[in-house]
Amino acid sequence: MREKLTKYLKELSANQNIGRQYLVEEYDIQDGHVYTDPLMEDSHEVVKGLIHKYKNRALIKVSYHCAAHCRFCTRIRQIGTDAGTLTDADIDNIIAYLVAHPEIDDVILSGGDPFYTPHITEALLTKLKDIESVKVLRIGTRLPVQSPISFESKPIVRLLELVKQIALEKPFYILIHIEHPDELTSEVLSLFKTLRQQHVTLLSQTVFLKGINDDVETLFQLFRTLYHNGVVPYYLYHCDKVAGLENFIVPLEAEIEIATELHRRLSGIACPAFVIDIHNGYGKLPIPLAYFTADATTAKDIEGNIITL
Ligand code: SF4
Repeated sequence: MREKLTKYLKELSANQNIGRQYLVEEYDIQDGHVYTDPLMEDSHEVVKGLIHKYKNRALIKVSYHCAAHCRFCTRIRQIGTDAGTLTDADIDNIIAYLVAHPEIDDVILSGGDPFYTPHITEALLTKLKDIESVKVLRIGTRLPVQSPISFESKPIVRLLELVKQIALEKPFYILIHIEHPDELTSEVLSLFKTLRQQHVTLLSQTVFLKGINDDVETLFQLFRTLYHNGVVPYYLYHCDKVAGLENFIVPLEAEIEIATELHRRLSGIACPAFVIDIHNGYGKLPIPLAYFTADATTAKDIEGNIITL
């Protein structure tokens, strides 16, 4: 995957917490990695762009393009290539599949970044909104922290109008991928206000990244600031075991300690679910925090005292 940053990120990239997420290092180039698909998305792609892995949910990859390329991306094998860009015919095939599978009631638009290709996302949503069996829509995006000013462009303003229209009829979630509190600039916080005016629910997703956010204070600040600004912290992930991304993976034991401390310090709604996406394609599993003993007969209370259950 080649290096790609937005103008906005270039200005912020001297900040190590942001720069290290995007600036290609020697390790990335030298190893000649063959990036893998641990979530087994490719084998669940039922028509081009549509992943149907869980009975009632489907994920649509709008394209493989994003405003900037994250070095730790789970879909690093695809990002930046043209092969995933949906055409009108692809969209029609996806809609036909969803209509034929009314058990799918929850559809997630991802990619690539759906807000980076607003014309495709608009075409897709225009048809998706009329499928009665689809009850919930979600968009996963990282564009708010990569280029907040893009949300003032005409195509995205028009897309947000459509999102707002749909959100008045069906629950609509925007899942924003954020890694570090330094990404929450005044421009980003102001964009959250605009997004909240579209009647959507804002949620966040964060991946544990070695040397970037693998400490309690950083994540505490991140989740607290998100919560204060109307974004509910949703998932905190263990980094997927994609070959070539080893430099970013934090040992699970260290993550459990951090997540346990976060649970002590944050209110329930401000504390995301700590999960691992199992690499056989099984799905997300919650990781137990360090409260319980192995046989679940005793546990530590919030102060660390041992109590019998
Ligand atoms: S924005 Fe998302 S999909 Fe795009 S490279 Fe980053 S993590 Fe991957």
